[in-house]
Parts: sequence; C-alpha cells; structure tokens
Amino acid sequence: MMPGPTPVPETTLLALAKHPIGHRTQEFSNILAEVTANLKWLHQTENNVLILNVSGTGAVEAGIINFLSAGDRILVGANGKFGQRWVEVSQAYGLNVETITAEWGKPLDPSLFAEKLQADTQKQIKAVVITHSETSTGVLNDLETINRHVKKHGTALIIVDAITSLGVVNVPVDAWGLDVVVSSSQKAYMTPPGIGFVCVSPKAWKAYQTAKLPKYYLDLGKYRQAATKDTTPFSPPVNLIVALQTTLRMLKEEGLESIFARHERLKNATRAAIKGLNLPLLVEDSFASPALTAVVPQGIEADKIRSFLKQRFDLELAGGQDHLKNKIFRIGHLGFVSDRDILSCIASLEVVLAELGYKGAVPGAGVAAAQFKMMETIYS
Ligand SMILES: *Cc1c(COP(=O)(O)O)cnc(C)c1O
Repeated sequence: MMPGPTPVPETTLLALAKHPIGHRTQEFSNILAEVTANLKWLHQTENNVLILNVSGTGAVEAGIINFLSAGDRILVGANGKFGQRWVEVSQAYGLNVETITAEWGKPLDPSLFAEKLQADTQKQIKAVVITHSETSTGVLNDLETINRHVKKHGTALIIVDAITSLGVVNVPVDAWGLDVVVSSSQKAYMTPPGIGFVCVSPKAWKAYQTAKLPKYYLDLGKYRQAATKDTTPFSPPVNLIVALQTTLRMLKEEGLESIFARHERLKNATRAAIKGLNLPLLVEDSFASPALTAVVPQGIEADKIRSFLKQRFDLELAGGQDHLKNKIFRIGHLGFVSDRDILSCIASLEVVLAELGYKGAVPGAGVAAAQFKMMETIYS
C-alpha cells in the first residue's frame, strides 16, 4: 500500500516473466504502437507521448532540459520533496529559478503565480514547473488554475510532474493545453519502476528548436523521430513495455471515468477511516490527493506503526521524508488498489495501534467509517 512502487497485477507479473524479444522486430513495433495509442488515450491527447527508460526523475529532467536554455527564467512550485527536486534539477542546469513555496502539507497558492506572470510584461518567464500531486505529503495542487494563469501569460510553457495524478485524477492534456506532462511506470501504471513518459505539445516542440541546454540520452527529438517508426532510439526496457501493454489494456477496459471515481472513493474511505480513528490527517479535505493519504499519528512513532504492520500483516506503508520522517505515514491508494485493500489496511492498522497502546478510538471505528463511505450510495 505504498504510493510507489504500487502493486502489480498478476497478468502483468506473468508478462514480465516472458523472454525478452528483439526490439528491432515487427513484433515489438506492434506492441509499441498499441502502447503508444493507449498512452495517448490515458493522456486525453493527440500530442506525442514518448517512452524513456528512466525513473520518474529522469523523465522530469528530460521534460525541463529539452525546452530551455541556460539562464532562462522559470518559476518552480515547491511544497514538498518532489517540487524541491525540480528546483534542484533546474539549478543544476544553470536555469534562473524562482521558487514559489508553500508549507509541506499545504497547496501552492495560484495567485502567487498570477502575480509573477502578470508582472512579466517582457515575457522573460519561459516555463512554470508544477508538481500536480505532491506525493511526499498527499497535496493535490490546483493545476487547472495555475495553468490558466500560464495561458494568460502566453509565452511560458507549463511543465507538469503528473507522476501520481495521471491515471488517478482528470488530467485532460489537450483540453487544458498542458505543454509537457511527465509520468512514470511505478505509480498509476501498475508496472515496476523503469519507464518514464513525457508528453509534449506542439508549442513545446517549437521551444525545443531553440533550446540550448546540453542533452544526449534525454534528447526528446531522438525519441520523437524513432516513434514515427514505432521504435525507440536506444534499447528499450522490453519486458517492462510488454508488461505495460497489459496494464494499459486493464485501464482502458475500466475507462477514465471509473478510474477517477475509484480513486476518489478510495481516498474518501481512507480519510473517513483515519478520522474515525481520531488520528490527524496531514492534508485538509479540499486539496487532498486521491493518490495517497498522509497520517500524523501524534504520540506514536510513525515508523514503529509501519514496522509493526510489516511484521504482523506483511503490509507496507510509506514513511515521511526529510523533516516529516517518523512523523507521518503514507497510505498509497493509487493503481492496482481496491475497496478490499483499504478495508484490510485499516483493520490491520487498528490492531497495530491497539498493540502500541493507542486509546484514541475503539477497534472497528476506522473500518466502520470506511464501510459507510463505501456504502454511501446505498444509504443516501
Ligand atoms: C515517484 C515520484 C517521482 C519520481 O521518482 P523516481 O524515484 O525518480 O521514479 C516524481 N514525482 C512524484 C510526484 C512522484 O510521486
């Protein structure tokens, strides 16, 4: 129950066990063509969706460096570990970074972006980088509003880390005009780590033509060129792509609306359960990500809860990062996760809390609250 790597379905695990096939074969090109078509469906786009063998960080790095030149002024939103990472990547490449921060656990304030963008009459701001769902805290940033301000500016590109939002909440790439959208295999794609995806708009390709930051392996032009022939510029992670073919078929069969509704339901049930247990949530309801829920177990070490859950129930939750280490635990509910998983997770958590001496709620209160959320349609 971690927010990445997420659980992998059995069909996909079996696909991974197949012997790798040659990546310059018609057989593999056919797989790549299907995968690419389904990636476009998932992104709700006609733009290129390029496949790179990198982790999510490599894909975001590619999404930044292909469209900019040293010294370019950019705005980067940072309200958690990942936003902070994109500040570091941008600085490593000599970009002129202005960081717009919010406290960890709070959302980015869109009006701070609006102020900077409106004041930029010289059109010096070349890009705005946003982490849509900040996985270190479980905040869902208001991408739609921030993007509207970027669109009013006209020149700046919007570059989105959608790693725990794509395939979880609605990210209509073409309808919103998102320029660069990045995701990676080990989150909503239900596939092990190792593939990064970069979705690129025509406006971003125009910026690519004049962008001067150095690049070779991450040069997206090479991937676009290869994609026209249903191939990749370098050896692709053949087994992962064969596995991805199975999970994209599953997602397509489920349908976008059902996928978003399922994640919303899992989020609501998890949050209701934690409230039922009288434990504080890190993030308020109005901007909580449907990908994960962070809990602040005051009085009990978060990592102790995690290690007990692992030992007693073979259940793995994520911990806190940086200053939130041992202060929070994070329940992942994105990807291959069902209502049943939430019920068993909460039930297990209740036993562990009791064993650790927690007296804030009676056993069953969390499960009951989650059940009521799941049965809302029956009782309303
Ligand atoms: C998982 C994740 C990443 C990517 O991390 P990698 O370890 O490089 O795959 C980036 N951003 C967010 C929001 C994430 O959840």
